Amino acid sequence: MAQCNKRTLIIGATGFIGRFVAEASLATGRPTLVLVRSGATSTSKVKTIRALQEKGAIILHGSMGDRNFIEKLLKENEVDVVISAVGGDSILDQLTLVEAIKAVRTVKRFLPSEFGHDVDRADPVEPGLTMYNEKRKVRRAVEEAGIPYTYICCNSIAAWPYHDNTHPSDVLPPLDKFQIYGDGSVKAYFVAGTDIGKFTMKAVDDVRTLSKNVHFRPTCNFLNMNELASLWEKKIGKTLPKVTVTEDDLLSAAEEMCIPRSIVASFTHDIFIRGCQINFPIEGPNDIEVSSLYPDIPFRSVDECFDDYIVEIQQQPANGIGGGAPNSMVEVLAITAATCA
Ligand code: NDP
Repeated sequence: MAQCNKRTLIIGATGFIGRFVAEASLATGRPTLVLVRSGATSTSKVKTIRALQEKGAIILHGSMGDRNFIEKLLKENEVDVVISAVGGDSILDQLTLVEAIKAVRTVKRFLPSEFGHDVDRADPVEPGLTMYNEKRKVRRAVEEAGIPYTYICCNSIAAWPYHDNTHPSDVLPPLDKFQIYGDGSVKAYFVAGTDIGKFTMKAVDDVRTLSKNVHFRPTCNFLNMNELASLWEKKIGKTLPKVTVTEDDLLSAAEEMCIPRSIVASFTHDIFIRGCQINFPIEGPNDIEVSSLYPDIPFRSVDECFDDYIVEIQQQPANGIGGGAPNSMVEVLAITAATCA
């Protein structure tokens, strides 16, 4: 692989999406700097930092919200590319980062924390709308500052799309019953986390993606809930009962205002009831589809991603495919620490 020398700063590399991006950046061989907040860090984050360091990441300690520190960091390290993958609760903190990038004038590309839908087009109910308004505000600040940017609209991560979990690919698909949104016929695009990282790093160096929304629409992974369920049933060799989660159920879950669970419910409603990933063509002057840029690079299929879960299950005999045992991973990992209004 040709090595790229653009010095790349990644913020949020210990997070769910950020880790995929950091791994992909390191895989290109480019100098990769990772900003890590100081303070209490969980064992899993310490492990992630160590793993990234072992692959060559340069770890820097500090916060994106400290403008002077960021300006100094960008200058001293001659950073060419900044990628932010901060979580939903830190979106507006990026405004300070934008000010710092504007001040130094040397950053050749900035990717703010997007990694979902095109927030200027999608219009979820609250509380998802608040997050999109924040992402829109960051977009406008970037554009007004004249910073070269790319917005990554990668759609859904390849996994079972639980409506109450922000990190669904960390969780096994169901082993007891499926919850199907509406009639299960609305399609969405699913992208493996490793491909989110890989294609983000392709886009970051590509002149064709400058000032563009880059949409991830792999045709091989264009599936509805019913098709996802059938695929999973084939993998586990078992038919599971289906329970319908209606539009009203999703709206009620959103209205509960339990953050972040209700945000996920509002996005689930937008995707699988309203069809927010498929209700617009990619034809605007600022839009580009990633497969059209790199037609020779295949995406991992959902089928392959589901195979990974089968391997995980086989390593946990207690889950016993066919035995009807509860999905213990889901119970452990489903979000419990929600703040409710
Ligand atoms: P996480 O909450 O998992 O991770 C956030 C990361 O940002 C952590 O590493 C955190 O560090 C870091 N961070 C937050 N604030 C700061 C700061 N001030 N300075 C430095 N680092 C900071 O985020 P997600 O991966 O869930 O979300 C990232 C993006 O991806 C979001 O825009 C989200 O909407 C999107 N997303 C898309 C999904 C999809 O299916 N398409 C699924 C999930 C998210 P620390 O360890 O210190 O907290």
